Parts: sequence; C-alpha cells; structure tokens
Amino acid sequence: MTLLAVPIAQTRVENALVAVESASRQGADIVELRMDYLEDLSSECLGRLILAGKRVGKLILVTCRDQMEGGYRPIEQSIRREILTLALRQGADFIDCEFRNFQQYEVGKPILEEWQRHPSARLILSAHNFQGPFEDPAGLVNSILAGCPRAIPKIAYTARHINDCFAALDLAGEYPSAIVIAMGPAGQITRILAPKFGSPLTYACLDTDSTTAPGQMGLSQFRDYRWNSIRSDTRVYGIIGNPVAHSMSPILFNTLFDAEQMNAVYVPILMEGGYSEFSDFLNGLRSRQGTYGRDFHGFSVTIPHKSNALEYLLRQGGSVEPLASRIGAVNTLRIGYGELTAGNNTDYAGAIDALAQVLGTDRHGLHGKSVAVLGAGGAARAVVAGLCDVGAKVTIYNRTQEKGRLLAEEFHCRFAGLLPSTQVPDEIVINCTSIGMYPNVNDMPVSPDNFRSGMVVFDTVYNPLDTRLLKEARSAGAIPIRGIEMFIRQALAQFWLFTGRQANEEIVRECVIRSLSKTQ
Ligand code: NAP
Repeated sequence: MTLLAVPIAQTRVENALVAVESASRQGADIVELRMDYLEDLSSECLGRLILAGKRVGKLILVTCRDQMEGGYRPIEQSIRREILTLALRQGADFIDCEFRNFQQYEVGKPILEEWQRHPSARLILSAHNFQGPFEDPAGLVNSILAGCPRAIPKIAYTARHINDCFAALDLAGEYPSAIVIAMGPAGQITRILAPKFGSPLTYACLDTDSTTAPGQMGLSQFRDYRWNSIRSDTRVYGIIGNPVAHSMSPILFNTLFDAEQMNAVYVPILMEGGYSEFSDFLNGLRSRQGTYGRDFHGFSVTIPHKSNALEYLLRQGGSVEPLASRIGAVNTLRIGYGELTAGNNTDYAGAIDALAQVLGTDRHGLHGKSVAVLGAGGAARAVVAGLCDVGAKVTIYNRTQEKGRLLAEEFHCRFAGLLPSTQVPDEIVINCTSIGMYPNVNDMPVSPDNFRSGMVVFDTVYNPLDTRLLKEARSAGAIPIRGIEMFIRQALAQFWLFTGRQANEEIVRECVIRSLSKTQ
C-alpha cells in the first residue's frame, strides 16, 4: 500500500499544529514535519508536533531539508543532523536525510547510531535535482542501497517534459521499495501512479498555497484520481493536450470508472512541443509493453495535438476512422492492442448525435436539412464533416473569408462570407466560433434578429452552459441546443471506444455541469 504524506510547511508552531489536525481530517497517512520551515527549532517544539501527529493517529516523518536540495531556509548542517537524531528519540516513524549529507561521516555516523536504538523507525535517504532528470538514477539508488541497505531511497527530479517521466516510471518499476517522483506539472503521472508500482509513499499538499515541491497535488485531487483503487494491474487512460490542467475529462472519466467499478484510472498528460514529442511519448509507452507500458490503453487528444495523433497513426500504420482522416483530427487514440493503434474523432459524432436527438431522428434524418455553420476552426471542421457526411446542405460563414472558403471547397458545400448580419434562410444554425465563451458572455456571433420560431439554434460553446445566443434564441421561439450536449455525446462515444461499455448519460451530465459550475 502506498501512503500519502502531507508536508507541514509552516513557520509558526501554532499554525503547524493546526495543519497537522487538518492533514489528519483530510485523510493523510503520514504527516511530514518540515522543520526547515519552522522558526522555533527547539526540542520542545519538535516534541509538541510529534505528539500532535501521534494523537491524531498519524505516522510521523521528520525532515529538515538542506537548502541545497530545496530546503526553505539556511540551517547549519550540525543543527539539521541534531533535529533528525532528536526526532528518532522522540518517536518519529520516518526521518529523511539527503543522501549527499548522509555520506559525510559527521552526519551519517550519529544518525546510524541513533537509528540502531530505534530500529522500527525508517530512514529515507533522498536526492533532489530541480534542474532536470539525474544522469544515472538507477546508479544513485544502487549507491544509496549499497551504503545503507535498509534505507528507503527517494529520488526526486524535475520533469521538464512528459517524456522525462519515463526515467522515473522505469525506476519505480525496477525498485518498488524506492520513492520516485518527477516534479513539475509534466510529472504528475508519477505521483498519481505511485500505487501501481507499490511505492512506499508519495506526497500531497493540503492546499495549493502549501506545496513544498513543484507539481505537488492536493489530497482531494488524489481522491479524484481514484488513489485508493490503483493497483499494479490498473489500466491507464488519459488526456494528451497543452494545456490540460483545466480539462473536465479526468474528473469525468474517473467518475465513470468509479460508477462502473472498473480497475482503471484517467490521468492528465501535459504534452509540450509538437509531433516529435508526441510520437516520442507514444513510442516510449509502446516500447515498454513488457512492463507498465502495456497498461496504457487509450488517450483523449485535445488542442494542439489532434493532427499529431492522426499523423502518428498514418505513419505507424494504425487504423483511422475515415471521417477522422477527412477532418484531419483524431481526438480518441487507442493503444495496446498488440502493436496496433487506432484513432477516431468523436467530436463530429457528438455534434451530429446531439442535433439528431433534438430533431427526434437518427443521423440519416439530417439528410437534406439546411444548416448554417458559423466559424471555420477546429469545431466547425468536425461539424461540417459530420453534416456533409449525412447529406445535410451546409452553408459556412466565417470572419476570415479565405479559411471559410477553403473549408467549403474541401467538403463541397457553400461559403457565404462574413458572419450573417441579416436573417439566414436555414432551418438550423450552429455556432462553431468561440464568440460568447466565458468570460465574454455578452457577445453573440449573430444578431437576435436572425432567430424565428421553429428554427434550431445550436451553440457549441459550453461555458457558460446557457450562452446569450441560446437565451435570445429561446425568447424568439427557436429550439436551443446547448454545447454540453455535444461534449456529453463525444465523451460517451469515447468511453465506449475505450472500454466497450455504455456510460451512464446522467452521471456524465451531472459531472460536466458540476465541473462547469466551478469555473463560472
Ligand atoms: P478555433 O479553431 O480557434 O476556431 C475559432 C473560430 O471562431 C474561428 O472560425 C474564428 O474565426 C472564430 N472567431 C473567434 N473569435 C471571433 C470573433 N471575435 N469574431 C468572429 N469570429 C471569431 O476554435 P475551435 O476549436 O473551433 O473552438 C470553437 C468553439 O467551439 C469554442 O468555444 C469551443 O469551446 C467550442 N467547442 C465545443 C465542443 C463541444 O464539445 N461542445 C468541442 C470543440 C469545441 P477566424 O477563422 O476568423 O479566426
């Protein structure tokens, strides 16, 4: 079982005592007393904190980090060593000493001597690199274990890119007794997946103001990532994009995995760079089919990597849904079927299915309907492709006329110029521009004069849920369709592609609405 340690990083002892209580209430397994933050380094103060942690039934880890390895303030080596030996005498369950310092006779010897008198405590020997990965992390773990075979090695380095995580994941797989962390936003998967490798512990913060290392996540985030359900054989899915921090997909898919009681987790993959980095990541996973790579089964792909996903599949000989190929974008990537990969686009399906449902028909019932599409970006491309595929009569309007014209030519439909200022003759209007999106919620792509009774007005913008365009359409007697209907249907299609199961639409709807209400 992997334990969650929460660093208590407070300068005043009274605040540290409150934080210990709070960490306990929120479900920490271990409280890490970061003595390098405290102003009062007395034995009495340390004793109070250790006692407070014991009183709430938590394991205690005492660290007095050297500033050379991320410590908060400069503290003399001899004082830091004293604090660790004192912590052992006062009943700490773990102490953490930098391996570099431990190797010095005047530090290592007294710690080992004190440890012999308290053999049930554990000694963490740590190494940190805030610049990037270590050159030889396995060599470092071996040196730690050679110097002190009963120690828990801890290797923490900054991941400058998601591909820097491979070294950490490889190491965690090879040395399950070690704590291995890739710090920074790109390294979050190494924290989330720690239980998969049987790591002894990882670190969570109480709130984002009290992080002690870049990329540290809150206790509640670990719960969102199904921390307690992750095992060695848990399947891994995720979202590849840049940015990904605000994506609704992790909370949505993890909620669905919970509801379906599936042994699976969905993680954020922050992918900086372009095709080369994207393909290095997938090749990296696929080359690790003998180990953890085989447990990665699929990815949602978002901006700016949908075209990279398509290119990857085409170059690797994976199978691509024909319409995804025409759209030029894959938003659902499946791997792990032997060496095969497969790609789909569920955006167009989400839009077409949402429209068909409101009209009380199936996709083919859209044949011959006249539709005005506002915009010529990524969303418009998917919508136009889906509509043309089922034989709707599409007219495109766009601010940048050349883009609109090219899109119309490609899908053999009509381009009618700038966004319409007068009434459009079509039965259905679909806004695929970002106009009206939060925070510019009063903006509209067309004037309300365009709407009439019986017309269908579909806004792909889903934040806010009810855009001004939809409110005006409703008052004019038109039938509004909210952007979340498209989002929900594309997510349902993606869940089915990933798992072969039909997700519960109500759970998806509730989850999406709850997530959106937090961002408004
Ligand atoms: P995109 O590729 O950047 O395209 C943006 C489109 O909006 C372009 O046609 C652009 O016109 C137009 N536009 C932006 N600002 C404008 C302005 N001030 N005046 C006139 N036209 C303007 O973005 P996208 O990926 O297509 O996304 C567009 C919207 O669709 C976003 O709000 C997104 O949230 C939504 N979306 C929803 C879903 C869903 O599941 N509901 C899925 C995908 C996207 P130019 O060509 O002239 O720049």
